[in-house]
Amino acid sequence: LLDVRNVVKSYGASTVLDGVSLTVRRGETVAIIGPSGSGKSTLLRTINHLQAPTHGFVVLDGDVIGYRVGPRALRQLSEREVLRQRTRIGFVFQSFNLFPHLTAVENVAEAPVSALGRDRAESTRTATELLTRVGLSHRLDAYPRQLSGGEQQRVAIARALALEPELILFDEPTSALDPELVDEVLSVIIDLARGGTTLVIVTHEIAFARRVADTVIFMDHGKIVESGPATQVLDHPTHARTQEFLALVR
Ligand code: ATP
Ligand code: MG
Repeated sequence: LLDVRNVVKSYGASTVLDGVSLTVRRGETVAIIGPSGSGKSTLLRTINHLQAPTHGFVVLDGDVIGYRVGPRALRQLSEREVLRQRTRIGFVFQSFNLFPHLTAVENVAEAPVSALGRDRAESTRTATELLTRVGLSHRLDAYPRQLSGGEQQRVAIARALALEPELILFDEPTSALDPELVDEVLSVIIDLARGGTTLVIVTHEIAFARRVADTVIFMDHGKIVESGPATQVLDHPTHARTQEFLALVR
């Protein structure tokens, strides 16, 4: 479903992603782990073209993200076309990024109306269903400031689902939460993974990665050092750097 091909991302002289390639199959859950500054967030932002790669490209179901394949070269898509393409990829951030002036149900219903031109009444019905699915049927009309962090993050997940994305990217979805709120968010993500949604999750929660991921990728200094089945990478890492990192975070 997703093919990241030899992606390089540089800021001036510093190379943050140094030739990253990975493939995500439909229905697969991939967890990305690695030390701070290793390029995990940059990789996610490159996948949905919040940042264009310096070299290499990202292919989603045959379409190059951010570009159209021409007879001779890749042509850059317009901002509007990129926005349209980006609706195919959900993104859930560490900081929930909800609209503060909209209720939970309005937050979830907004993008399908504005980005896809859906009917508002229908979008509101769908939003209600999605909020029910993440356990928030009783909080539909609450504003973000009236919600706990865990509730806000579940609204953010429902909002990502509202666009019926082909895959969802999560960037440390629980690292801004108080410890007692982490599990309610992780269990929603585990349900999505079990339900067959394709997920790419950057996380520091090793136990969660072991539980949810089919594949674990360990990144360091902008490179994929090691990747493979979750239990193999987490329990029997072959690279010294992976072993050191896991010893530290355990
Ligand atoms: P963390 O676990 O702390 O979130 P990360 O693996 O997500 O780390 P990134 O946020 O991808 O790391 O950053 C990788 C490196 O790129 C860091 O050294 C960071 O300072 C650098 N970087 C990120 N964005 C920019 C930017 N816009 N300009 C210059 N350098 C940047
Ligand atoms: Mg990050």
